[in-house]
Amino acid sequence: MTDPATLADRVRAGELRLHELEAHADHDTAAAARRLVLEAETDADLSTTGSYAFDAEVADSAIENMFGATQMPVGVAGPVTVDGGAADGEYYLPLATTEGALVASVNRGLSVIESAGGAEARVTKSGMTRAPVFRTGGIVESAEVVEWVREHEAELAAAAESTTNHGELLDVTPYVVGDSVYLRFRYDTKDAMGMNMAAIATEAACEVVEAETPAELVALSGNLCTDKKPAAINAVEGRGRSVTADVLIPDDVVEERLHTTAAAIAEANTRKNLVGSAKAGSLGFNAHAANVVAASFIATGQDPAQVVEGSNAITTAEEREDGLYLSVSLASLELGTVGGGTKLPTQSEALELVGLTGGGDPPGANGDALAEVIAAGALAGELSLLAALASNHLASAHEELGR
Ligand code: NAP
Repeated sequence: MTDPATLADRVRAGELRLHELEAHADHDTAAAARRLVLEAETDADLSTTGSYAFDAEVADSAIENMFGATQMPVGVAGPVTVDGGAADGEYYLPLATTEGALVASVNRGLSVIESAGGAEARVTKSGMTRAPVFRTGGIVESAEVVEWVREHEAELAAAAESTTNHGELLDVTPYVVGDSVYLRFRYDTKDAMGMNMAAIATEAACEVVEAETPAELVALSGNLCTDKKPAAINAVEGRGRSVTADVLIPDDVVEERLHTTAAAIAEANTRKNLVGSAKAGSLGFNAHAANVVAASFIATGQDPAQVVEGSNAITTAEEREDGLYLSVSLASLELGTVGGGTKLPTQSEALELVGLTGGGDPPGANGDALAEVIAAGALAGELSLLAALASNHLASAHEELGR
C-alpha cells in the first residue's frame, strides 16, 4: 500500500508527475500526497482543504489533480410554495455563497411571496445548443450546405440520437458568414444540463454533414452556441431552460412586510432594471438574478461558469388594482438534476433538500421543476432588493418632508 509521504517523495525525485498519482494509489491518498508536495513547495497550510467528507474517487470525472475540496458555507431560504408546470408544493432553496445578507434577503423575499400565496412559474422553452462551424469554398457552397441541412434534419437527428438514450434533437438552425456555416443544434436533454450530451450527439451529426456536403468541420463549437460567454442569442432565443416566475402581492402585504408601496417598487424597477440597464447596454434587465443563480448552482452541483447565461433575466414590476405584480424571466437557465457535478455528495444532498434528485417522471420533469424553484428564488431576490431600494427612498423622502 503506497502512503502519501512515499508518493510525495517520488514526485519530488522526478519519478512521478503530480497528475499521475491516481495510477499508483487510491484517490484520497493521491490527494494527500499532492498536499504534501504543495505544502513543502509553497509553505501553504492545506490541512482544512484536506478535511473533506467524501470519497475522492466520486469526484474523478469532475476534477483533475485534486488536492482537497474547497468548502463553501451553504444556507437555506424558504420554504416557498411554487405552483409550476413541473414544481408543485413547498420547496426549500439551498444557497452556497460568501455574500453576507444574500440568504437573508432571498429568505425575506420568499417569506413575502409565501404570504401572497406562493409563486407561479413555468418553463416556456427548453433546449441545449451546440453550434459547430464548418468551412466551405464560398457563399455558393455555404448555401448548398444550408439547403441540404434543411432537407435532411431527420438524418441528422438519427445520427445525433444514436449517441444518447435521453437526448432528442429539436431543430438545427443554420447561420452563414461568407465561407463559414454555423449549425445551431438544439436538443431536449431532459433532466441533464446536457452540454456533454449535446457535444457528443453533435459530433455524430457533423460526420453526416461532412460526408454529404462540401462542408468541412473546423470546430465542434463555433461560439454561436453560446456557452459561458455573454451573448444576445441566448437572451433572445434561450438556452437551457427559459423560465418565468411571478407573483401578485396584495398592497397591505407590500406595505406591512416591505414598508413600501407597489408604485415605489414599480418605479425603482423601471428606472433601475429597465432604463438603467438599457442605458448601460446590459443583457440583464434585473437587479441581481445572478446572485440566486450562482448560489443555487454552486449548492446543487451545476456548472458555475453558466451563471453568465443565468444572468440573462428581465424583471417586470407593475402596480395593479389589487397589488404589486412582479415577474422574473430567465431566458437561459442551464441546469440539471443528473450528470455533471450533481452526483457529488454535498451537491446531491442539496438536491435532496429541494426534493429533486436524479431523473424525473416523465424525464425532464425534475430539471423543469428545479428551474422553476430557482426562478422563484430569483423573484424573491428581486423583490427584496427592489423593496429595500424603494423603502430607503421613501424613508429619505419622509425625512426630507418631515423637516
Ligand atoms: P453528463 O454527466 O455528461 O451526462 C449525463 C448523462 O446522464 C446523460 O448523457 C444521460 O445518458 C444520462 N441520464 C440518465 N438519466 C437521465 C435523465 N433523466 N435525463 C437526461 N439524461 C439522463 O452530463 P451533461 O448534462 O451532458 O453535461 C454536463 C457536464 O458538461 C458538466 O460537468 C459540465 O461542466 C460539462 N460541460 C461540458 C461542455 C462540453 O462542451 N462538453 C461544456 C460545458 C460544460 P444518455 O445520453 O445515454 O441518455
